[in-house]
Amino acid sequence: MSWKKSIRRSVQWASVLTILLGTAVSPTFAHAESVVPNRVPGAYQTPNQPLSQSLLQAKDPATTKKPEKKGVLGPIHPRYEMNVNYDSKAHQINGTMKVQFTNNLKQDLTELYFNLWGNAAVFKENGGGIDVQNVKVNGKKARYEVRDTSLHLQGFSLKANKKASVEMDFTVSVPEGQDRFGWSGTTVSLGNWFPILVVYDDEGWNVDPYFPYGESFYSLTGDFDVTVTTDKSQVIAATGTEKGRPKIVGNQAVHHYVAKNVRDFAMEMDPTYHVKSGMAGNTKVNVYFTDKQAKFADAMLESGIDSLKLYSEKFGKYPWPELDVVSMEGWFGGMEYPQLVMISITDNSTVDRVKSVVAHENGHQWFYGIIGDNEYDEPWLDESFATFSAALYDGTLDSLTAEPLEDPSYHLSSKVSDFTARGDEGVDAYYYMIYSYGARTLNDLRKELGDEQFYRSMQAYFKEKKFGVTTTADFIRIMEQTSGRDLSGFFADHRVYLSDQEN
Ligand SMILES: [Zn+2]
Repeated sequence: MSWKKSIRRSVQWASVLTILLGTAVSPTFAHAESVVPNRVPGAYQTPNQPLSQSLLQAKDPATTKKPEKKGVLGPIHPRYEMNVNYDSKAHQINGTMKVQFTNNLKQDLTELYFNLWGNAAVFKENGGGIDVQNVKVNGKKARYEVRDTSLHLQGFSLKANKKASVEMDFTVSVPEGQDRFGWSGTTVSLGNWFPILVVYDDEGWNVDPYFPYGESFYSLTGDFDVTVTTDKSQVIAATGTEKGRPKIVGNQAVHHYVAKNVRDFAMEMDPTYHVKSGMAGNTKVNVYFTDKQAKFADAMLESGIDSLKLYSEKFGKYPWPELDVVSMEGWFGGMEYPQLVMISITDNSTVDRVKSVVAHENGHQWFYGIIGDNEYDEPWLDESFATFSAALYDGTLDSLTAEPLEDPSYHLSSKVSDFTARGDEGVDAYYYMIYSYGARTLNDLRKELGDEQFYRSMQAYFKEKKFGVTTTADFIRIMEQTSGRDLSGFFADHRVYLSDQEN
């Protein structure tokens, strides 16, 4: 994401976006932006809380040599079948969902969690929310409890190594607002809008809070089969591919989408959208735009196609048949979902900036979409890489020279919670370290290994982690194995510490 709440009120839009896109800025300059208004109640730990243990531990560079965790990760192979109706006037979704998956967790499962991101405070304040009814596990009624953004299911036992299913009805109120989840004017943005399975790994169930200044999303790849009924006037961009033409029933149209090997399913709709398409190899790139956004349509298509080709060549082939680049009005830069990126256009947008934002969000197709990560625990694994990717596309790698923050307790490998525990200053540090300094670190690694070895190593990383989940330990291991180099000194010098992930 290229994202900052304060942009809404800030007259320094250009400066903030520059930070988000990874252009070199000094730490002092970054801190000049330190006012972060619109703090969202409930999304933060208590400000001024003492440093987390992980930060205090991670002083010793030798800790980069700790063995990586070889643990569990599941439930795997989720297959979501959803049948939903979107009421454009009430801004309400009613639907049913069935999720099948395999319990690969080597033990019988007596509980499951789903994330209900629509219940985050920032959405509830604006009329949003999500509720579920009639929850069944393997066909039998299950006990369930909704607590903020989590849904906890109990009252069953799912056998190890067996398939299982969860069914539920759900209702979503789409909040008013220019956001990744919200409606504004005629545009409806549906990111993180449905109940999504929580991942169980070495830490247990990853039921993390919503992070309004970035992401706390973490899910495994699976398949989606989604039927959407809504006003026939709506023009819809969606993850996956639409099967056939929509079926018209009176004033309604029934659309059918399928997606394979994706870790989320997003949509964006507006009856006034136009669509412009082009090909990047075998992938169809579609740009969605309103009359007002039309002057950026060619730039979005060009950047969508060219960055897709560039990253396919440098990192590994884009694996899906389609990519939607979707314009929306908004105060943030953009937001990534599998096969769909939201690009916010404002009165201050310029062609070059829009191209760069598209390149950043498209970078996330590789770093988050294809190579997944726990965005709450290791945000650098997607944001630093997307920022580096955009600089590669922009031809500005040489400008990635951001110095690390003076305070040595801010690490590139810190968790989101390590930053937010320190209030506004921590949020600024998050942007600076994870975007600017992270992109600089990857560029330093490129220079350290040389272009040829660096991209060969990145391709090996892509090959091993395609459709899976990566960790900092995995990235370091693959870089070392493929280059034959001991990079512990390099990563310690760049404040990448495995001990940050130990609690
Ligand atoms: Zn990003």
